[in-house]
Amino acid sequence: MSITGECFCGKINYEVSGELRDARSCHCSRCRKAFSSQASAYALVDANDFKWVTGEQHLATYESNHGFGLQFCSKCGSTLCGIFNGAVHGVTLGCVNGDPRVEISQHIFVGSKAPWELIPEGVKTFDEGPPPDGSS
Ligand SMILES: [Zn+2]
Ligand SMILES: [Zn+2]
Repeated sequence: MSITGECFCGKINYEVSGELRDARSCHCSRCRKAFSSQASAYALVDANDFKWVTGEQHLATYESNHGFGLQFCSKCGSTLCGIFNGAVHGVTLGCVNGDPRVEISQHIFVGSKAPWELIPEGVKTFDEGPPPDGSS
């Protein structure tokens, strides 16, 4: 069964035929702005497994430095995916429908979290980026 996602207004829908992986939440100040939230909630996807189903013409793209960017609905503003060099790199978990069978395994850059955010006990946190071996 494929994973689906859509924006708040429902004009844009996508489908992922493979699995989401490496779900993470980044609490840095840049991600807070980009996701309009206390942190990002994001999982990687294989670009070949991803396709827009409806509403691709309503997508707007913001490209930042180093080839990374975000694509969002120009009608309602939901951020749907991240792109790298023009290809879909991952999806925002907030726009995924139902249970994508993936859990956020690490909270990164918690050292620069917003002063108003309380981190729940028991979640795996890192003050900065993930450990270099990526094994956790
Ligand atoms: Zn929308
Ligand atoms: Zn971040």
